Amino acid sequence: MRAGALDPYELLGVDRDADDAAIKKAYRSLARQYHPDVNPDPEAQERFKEISHAYEILSDPQKRAAFDRGGDPFSGVGSGGFGAGFSFTDIMDAFFGGQAGGAAGGRGPRPRVRRGQDALIRVEISLAEAAFGVNREIKVDTAVLCETCSGSGAAPGSRPVACETCRGAGEVAHVQRSFLGEIRTLRPCAACRGFGTIIPEPCRDCGGEGRVRSRRSLTVKIPAGVDNGTRVQLSGQGEVGPGGGPAGDLYVELQVARHPVFTRQGNDLHCTVTVPMTAAALGTVLTLPTLEADLVSETSSPDMVTSFDLEVRPGTQSGTDQAIKGYGVPGLRGGRGDVVVTVLVETPTGLDAEQETLLNQLADLRGEQHPSGQLRASSKGFFGRLRDAFDH
Ligand code: ZN
Repeated sequence: MRAGALDPYELLGVDRDADDAAIKKAYRSLARQYHPDVNPDPEAQERFKEISHAYEILSDPQKRAAFDRGGDPFSGVGSGGFGAGFSFTDIMDAFFGGQAGGAAGGRGPRPRVRRGQDALIRVEISLAEAAFGVNREIKVDTAVLCETCSGSGAAPGSRPVACETCRGAGEVAHVQRSFLGEIRTLRPCAACRGFGTIIPEPCRDCGGEGRVRSRRSLTVKIPAGVDNGTRVQLSGQGEVGPGGGPAGDLYVELQVARHPVFTRQGNDLHCTVTVPMTAAALGTVLTLPTLEADLVSETSSPDMVTSFDLEVRPGTQSGTDQAIKGYGVPGLRGGRGDVVVTVLVETPTGLDAEQETLLNQLADLRGEQHPSGQLRASSKGFFGRLRDAFDH
């Protein structure tokens, strides 16, 4: 037995002539430090067993006297093995009459009516819908109030009655004897599951839950300027709580679908347009669709801007970016991003005889029949920029 090897006075850090109050105080403060409920360290657990054992000896006048005489404090009595069986709160309750732990019980019956949980639904929208807002009808599957019993859980005409086992308290006391005296713990009443009441005739539609699952349609107003991952909160549209309790909130998380043309970066929209080599050299004006053009329908406003002009200046190089101000995504706090167009120059292919002749003449005129090529340091081309956009 370890008690012989370890001095209980040393373990608790008290003097030989310490009185009961001092011993109790020392043990309480060590228990706060080492009880497994508050200190998960395995060494702390071992230490807690030792200090509990020490306290078991010093708190009992007979055992303490036996130890002081140099005898075995446990001769004739079994060791209680105190440390293992009781929670930290139980010990604190034993010291403080049920008030110290706080969470030990004594809370009374738990309410049948509780607030429901929040619900989350993911909805996919298009880039144009994210940019300009949309009213979207969604289907949600949540608990709703049981209309049959209006949430009470009792069949119509019946009502909940007080639980006979706990007399409505929702808790029953369990008493265990120990060297500390009686340790009294309150546990939820098994008969009424802690509610204090029993529903003798549960509502047949909800089985006494006061709520039923239902699928319904809702219209969500998605504001302009939202982005991938934005959550729209609909208060009171989540799960109805047990006992018909107030509903939690519904969060609609938006997933923005990939657009075939535009890639969003902040509030800017990036896209790429290809032009023939001749147009890049001579200059031209392209008419390109705006993102709004995706939303055009019979009902849309006639002054919706569905296109913009992009001026490709003579001599435009492949990979040139051009920003068109104000055609991007509206900001949540006003303002609007740009459309950034990268112009790619297309080299003509599949030349017929006449075209080849003309190009040879042009090369001749420009002295480009035998170009040497111009070496320079590597610059980021189109794919480099594309990679940057994805890394973003
Ligand atoms: Zn019901």
